[in-house]
Amino acid sequence: RRRVGRVEPREAALSRAAAAVPGVRRVNAVLTAAAGARPARGSAGQPSAGPPSAGPPSAGPIPGVAAIVAVASGKGGVGKSTTAVNLALGLRAAGLRVGLLDADIYGPSLPRLLGTADAKPDVDGGRIVPVPAFGLATMSIGYLVPEDTATVWRGPMATGAIQQFLRKVAWGELDVLVIDFPPGTGDIHLTLAQSVPITGAVIVSTPQDIALIDARKGVRMFERVNVPVLGLVENMSYFVCPHCGERSEIFGHGGARAEADATTQAFLGEIPLDGLIRETSDAGTPIVATAPDSPQGAAYLALARRVLDKLEAARTPSPVFREE
Ligand code: ADP
Repeated sequence: RRRVGRVEPREAALSRAAAAVPGVRRVNAVLTAAAGARPARGSAGQPSAGPPSAGPPSAGPIPGVAAIVAVASGKGGVGKSTTAVNLALGLRAAGLRVGLLDADIYGPSLPRLLGTADAKPDVDGGRIVPVPAFGLATMSIGYLVPEDTATVWRGPMATGAIQQFLRKVAWGELDVLVIDFPPGTGDIHLTLAQSVPITGAVIVSTPQDIALIDARKGVRMFERVNVPVLGLVENMSYFVCPHCGERSEIFGHGGARAEADATTQAFLGEIPLDGLIRETSDAGTPIVATAPDSPQGAAYLALARRVLDKLEAARTPSPVFREE
């Protein structure tokens, strides 16, 4: 345990031994680092997993991944994961190659939202192969350990798993990797921000004041770690009655836009509070994949378009050199 560098050859031996046990059909080994472990070199020449306290993190880009977008929220339950999934699908609909990483180690929801709860990722050449879902390359701790296992992990175990997801998953060539961050602010956020160059963060909030106070904390956290904030999304922004078509603003409306204005952040769009979004989300058939032409699907596609514009602007810092 103290010599992390020696663990990798053992991983193969342990996997072989586990595979030889009668009844075992497949083995997925996930390396995590305990507090106090020293950083070490992985087999691919990348510094391997280690908690931030263990030494300099592996801060390089993920080979083949052109941009990384964080989807975050100040608190749970605001629809961050639903937004991350449909944003990823919207970027995919725009013709991009898109990956989706569930970084919520303590409460993974991607397998449920994508209908992939029974997926068991393959391992190829020591790398975990992402699970394909609706044209996305996806990865979640929920694919690797039984539900509730990771909820008792200590911080370094969780951040170690995150490092593995960044460095030991065969992401391939991606235009964008969308990372569904855990809610709030914490170790995993810092690990991610310190481990890979995040192109920008999208903050999801509902319109209520209280949610916006949390959203502000999220914005500050990204600013502190020098991750550009691409802007705010207002989820559950308004409700359109499916019977009479009347629009109700259940939590108030426009709070995120006002917050964006007040904090000079961009406002990326509003998503309605809607029965079909909830049903498709909870049934594992995300609305952008199954009903892209619906008004709800269109709201996510418009969000994806704005995020894409922001990403392109982020990659072209000086308009002076742009061709007309
Ligand atoms: P978080 O990731 O912030 O915890 P989730 O994406 O898991 O939130 O969403 C929490 C619940 O709210 C889920 O049941 C989801 O289906 C529902 N939900 C999310 N966005 C909407 C929306 N715009 N309209 C209706 N229900 C939504």
